[in-house]
Amino acid sequence: MPDAPAYGALFDRLQRSAFRSRFHLGQQEREYALKQGAEVLRSHAEDFVRKRLAPACIPGDGRQTPMRGHPVFVAQHACACCCRSCLAKWHGIPAGRELSQEQQDSIVSLLMAWIGNEMSMPAPAARQDRARRRKAAEAFQLSLLDGD
Ligand SMILES: [Zn+2]
Repeated sequence: MPDAPAYGALFDRLQRSAFRSRFHLGQQEREYALKQGAEVLRSHAEDFVRKRLAPACIPGDGRQTPMRGHPVFVAQHACACCCRSCLAKWHGIPAGRELSQEQQDSIVSLLMAWIGNEMSMPAPAARQDRARRRKAAEAFQLSLLDGD
């Protein structure tokens, strides 16, 4: 099973996508990840991939992965493993064919590597703080303009 550094090139590519790079774990997803631990998250990832991605035919493909609510869902969007058309486009895995166990395992490893990376970065509280400070600074600037 490849280590996180093996995904460097792929993570770089995903980072260059405005859509993919938008996805980050929120506070609740982080807390959930910490509470459950990596082993439990991995078993959830295996389950989601087996049930929602692996079948050859998935009714409503493209809508099977919620945008939030579980760290693995967020990872799936961030890593373009959310549906079969994204798997085909980003990972060259053809749609309409059942995923092999090996393909499922490598998707799960990728998702877990992304979650590991994400958990090693600053919590979103810090980001929110920055956003709040920026908003306050903007409001302050506007109040100066209001003076005329
Ligand atoms: Zn997709």
